[in-house]
Amino acid sequence: MNDHNLERPRLPEPISGLWEIAMNLSWRWNPRARYLFRRLDRPLWHRTRHNPVAILQRVDPGRLARLAEDADFRRLHDEVLATCRREESREGTWMAAEHPEFGDRPVAYFCAEFGLHNSVPIYSGGLGVLAGDHCKAASDLGVPLVGVGLLYVKGYFDQTIRLDGWQEDMEAAFDPASTPLVPVPGPDGGRVVARLEVNGHDLAIGAWKLRVGRVPIYLLDTELEENRPEDRQLASRLYPGGRLERLQQEWILGAGGVRVLRAVGVDPAAWHANEGHAAFMLLERVRERMERGSTWEEAVERVRATSVFTTHTPVPAGHDIFPLEQVEACATRLLDTPGMSPARLAELGRGLEGPGGFHMTALAIRLSGGLNGVSETHGRVTRRMWHPLWPGRSVEDVPVGHITNGVHLSTWMSHSLMEFLDGHLGAGWVHRLADPALWDAVRGLDDEGLWRVHKRRKETLLAFVREQARHRWAEHWGDSGHLVGAGTLLSPDALTIGFARRFAEYKRADLLFRDADRLRRLVTDPRRPVQVVFAGKAHPADDQGKRILQRVYEAARDPGFEGRIAFLEDYELHMAHRLVQGVDLWLNLPRPPLEACGTSGMKAALNAVPQLGTCDGWWAEGYEGSNGWQIPLAPDEEDVDAWDARHLYELLEERVVPLYYEGEHHAAPRGWVAVMKEALRVGGSRFTARRMVREYVSDYYIPARRGTPDGLPVEAG
Ligand SMILES: *Cc1c(COP(=O)(O)O)cnc(C)c1O
Repeated sequence: MNDHNLERPRLPEPISGLWEIAMNLSWRWNPRARYLFRRLDRPLWHRTRHNPVAILQRVDPGRLARLAEDADFRRLHDEVLATCRREESREGTWMAAEHPEFGDRPVAYFCAEFGLHNSVPIYSGGLGVLAGDHCKAASDLGVPLVGVGLLYVKGYFDQTIRLDGWQEDMEAAFDPASTPLVPVPGPDGGRVVARLEVNGHDLAIGAWKLRVGRVPIYLLDTELEENRPEDRQLASRLYPGGRLERLQQEWILGAGGVRVLRAVGVDPAAWHANEGHAAFMLLERVRERMERGSTWEEAVERVRATSVFTTHTPVPAGHDIFPLEQVEACATRLLDTPGMSPARLAELGRGLEGPGGFHMTALAIRLSGGLNGVSETHGRVTRRMWHPLWPGRSVEDVPVGHITNGVHLSTWMSHSLMEFLDGHLGAGWVHRLADPALWDAVRGLDDEGLWRVHKRRKETLLAFVREQARHRWAEHWGDSGHLVGAGTLLSPDALTIGFARRFAEYKRADLLFRDADRLRRLVTDPRRPVQVVFAGKAHPADDQGKRILQRVYEAARDPGFEGRIAFLEDYELHMAHRLVQGVDLWLNLPRPPLEACGTSGMKAALNAVPQLGTCDGWWAEGYEGSNGWQIPLAPDEEDVDAWDARHLYELLEERVVPLYYEGEHHAAPRGWVAVMKEALRVGGSRFTARRMVREYVSDYYIPARRGTPDGLPVEAG
């Protein structure tokens, strides 16, 4: 703890609030706060990748002294500080106005990943970014929410690509001292906040607190002196090597997370397990009740009544199944609780395959009264998938609902577009997101103005691409093929397609290459060229994903594509912002029905960037005909990949390219801009995290707080 305080810089009194502002991630979505830190030191703002804590630790004291004398800067500082403090209370928020009866007891939101800012890299992809956006929207709405996760000091890996296109995974540790993380003191003032039995011995658990506007997130940490050396790293790797390590992490997150909340005096009214990784949270609460004298049945019933579980994937590999003996060995002390038994534990974790494995999703389903998938399609797929757990019911009556994911508008929409909308929709429109008339008004936006805003974002993206290519070239390669492959030859005038996400096989980054000659003709058309920017990481253990990445990378270096295909290394939040704001078209090609939802296309839509995608995840419900393009579902007898590739080429050749290049040189292409406006209208009215969190409150949190989620019977088999 003292170490951390040493990192706290000395600031001149008139601007000493800078530290307070930097220590709450709400600066991230407050444009005035971003401006404040940019003004503080522009080169450092860029060099630290927008990390205010690191800027304050490194900025020249002389500069601070001068700024403390600058009346303009002081006014800006005071204004931002006042906003920051106003947001300490929930007064005047949507929750306070609409649901005052909910009170202050929070919803505990457990998730194995949180993607909040690139300076805190404790996420690997969509699930984490979604959890981050959930917390931000809960803060905006005044929903009392407390996050619980793990502090992976060795978080996200750095990706570099070898000359032959193979991904190298470099484990990268980050330093909590250069982030807004604050260590939580334990009951005796030390670092130990709670204790948990893991595989028969005691583990000490520490915690860090991260403030995200009004929402605190507790991140658990086992790197404590008193832990055995082999246990210290248990919670510290985002990609643990083995299954046992992963099981122990989930045990720490779920069971340890409940104990940490108890230790710091948080008393949740409702509990949300976001994905099966967090399901031990439910089991620990059953144990607590039995320890206090409840019967097994009572304990299970009470936990169910106050719990919500969200499942995020229909892909089998996305569901954790552990060997039953491993779970029993990990939870020996749990099994000592009177009334608990190996048979009961086995029954709770029994999957569809029968006994033997311990299925985390099945555990979560049995212990949660509120259950949902994350898009309309995914809700349906999930009901079908888990139907055997409700043998007496028809598939339609399986009590799994859906809430379609959404993204945090002020995080993802570019500042220039927000300013442009201020001019047309009136300042304060961000507080009227739920008003449909607001989004209808988008249709009346000035074409030329919107096009200019977009072109600027595109130039910013290309400048970012060149800068990144320059660094990589100098640092690692000096190889011209890489320089081209990294996007240095991209042109601001060509139709630019973005494809960025994890390189999982079902996402099909290589679908575009199925007919390489046809792609080549599109890309090298002298009058109407197309360029494609790829980014994304393969999971370190996913060789199939790495082979797809290699294929894309080879194309990026292939002179036959004339430098119009680029692969950007090291995809993360910072780059994701640049991409969704700066490309012309977002491409999303999951093989239906494997994409539960997908959120990057929503981020693009909020920047008036339309999507071309398969009929899956959010696009199955988000495509309205006017806001982008959709590949129709393949009939049963067709080869899905062949069908989808053919439609992809046809849509690009016959619809997308002609529309983009229609009209006078330099003037806004009217038909294209009309699609952009529709993308923005649909994205803004239907796919924000604000809409999503409001639905969680009314459909799940309020019933869970009452202890009767949705009136669902307690009978899952
Ligand atoms: C939004 C986001 C994702 C998830 O994108 P999908 O479309 O759901 O695949 C992954 N990584 C980063 C960095 C993101 O910002």
